[in-house]
Amino acid sequence: MANGAQLSYSYVEPLATPATLRKMPALLLDRGSPLRFRLTGEPAQLRWGLRFLRACTSAQAQRATAALLALAELSRSELHAAVAADGLRFDHARPGKLVVYDSAAGLAGARRQVELQRALGCTQQVLSCAQCLAREPALAAYAAHIAGGVWTPGEEVADPLRLAGELAERAARHGAELRWRCAATGFMRRGERIVAVKTAAGEVETDAVVLANGAAAARLGRALGLRLPVYPLKGYSITVPVADPARAPRVSVTDLRRKIVYAPLAGTLRVAGMAELVGHDLRIDARRIRQLTDAVAETFPGAGDLDADLRPWAGLRPATPTSMPIVGAAGAANVYLNVGHGALGLTLALGSARLVQQMLAGQVPPVAVPFARPR
Ligand SMILES: Cc1cc2nc3c(=O)[nH]c(=O)nc-3n(C[C@H](O)[C@H](O)[C@H](O)COP(=O)(O)OP(=O)(O)OC[C@H]3O[C@@H](n4cnc5c(N)ncnc54)[C@H](O)[C@@H]3O)c2cc1C
Repeated sequence: MANGAQLSYSYVEPLATPATLRKMPALLLDRGSPLRFRLTGEPAQLRWGLRFLRACTSAQAQRATAALLALAELSRSELHAAVAADGLRFDHARPGKLVVYDSAAGLAGARRQVELQRALGCTQQVLSCAQCLAREPALAAYAAHIAGGVWTPGEEVADPLRLAGELAERAARHGAELRWRCAATGFMRRGERIVAVKTAAGEVETDAVVLANGAAAARLGRALGLRLPVYPLKGYSITVPVADPARAPRVSVTDLRRKIVYAPLAGTLRVAGMAELVGHDLRIDARRIRQLTDAVAETFPGAGDLDADLRPWAGLRPATPTSMPIVGAAGAANVYLNVGHGALGLTLALGSARLVQQMLAGQVPPVAVPFARPR
């Protein structure tokens, strides 16, 4: 797991917006575009695509923004509480995040989003190009592509693999039995309840089931009679050792022109991007990796050692058409869903887990979030 490493608590605008819809034709036709669509012949892909297009309205985008901000705030407080209580070590830092735009129109749209989010309690500032460079001097060589930006001081970074390892280790210490490389294949039902999970290694009896298997959730959900609107949105990353700290960014940077995120992470620069609607395909496309290394060379020249092993990675964002995760009870009396976190699964992980834990315990969740419907 080498995702973008951003705990992006305030930058939660959904992918489906009127602006995305307007830019779609150009994005799909440009060969170097971060967006790629390949027809796989799966009805699920077509269904997802149509629902995504329908979700590109201002009203839906505002609803999703408000819901995701509430869940992100819960996640932030849960993560901070876990760090304080358990001393988790996962290269967690708070460098702040600067999102840069290459056009006045893009910046005007960002300004509207900042105003909407200010009313919902976010602290963000719209900056000119000069202010962006003052905030992050390593962007100097890229100034010609910066019309302005949005600065969010509270944003954090974390190594997702280390965080997952730490949480797994704590869970095992508290008595959890972890079964690695053991795929769930179906369920045994008795009346309203699931009584066992079928796995490659046999049946496992259970009191409750939490379905949380990312982009594969739609397939396994069928065994529960659910049609989950979760489809993979493939992306890539590289991890570049920092060669010259003076030329490397100290803050997280998102370049909206290329849709690439840069996170300073323990002496490296995690660089991630691309959104491909190409099915469950985890192959690493060398051209995409070259796009990422070219972007680093142009944006932060001399910052990284691009001849090192850059640990190329591809992953699948479990995306819903509205960018709203599906967290709730469905499928049987003792089944809970925790899927569909799209581009924000690291950011929203601990808040979502808290909601599921409270549902399992029969408590009322602390935030009322209108999540995506499972059907
Ligand atoms: C390029 C890229 C950059 C990203 N950057 C960021 C970022 O900066 N910040 C952020 O917040 N999010 C980011 N994300 C999104 C984030 O990585 C996802 O939202 C998150 O990983 C989703 O978590 P998940 O646990 O739902 O799914 P996953 O992480 O996909 O985990 C699902 C797990 O279930 C397992 N599984 C699947 N099927 C079965 C089965 N039948 N039985 C048992 N196990 C099964 C899989 O092997 C996998 O281990 C990024 C994603 C990508 C691709």
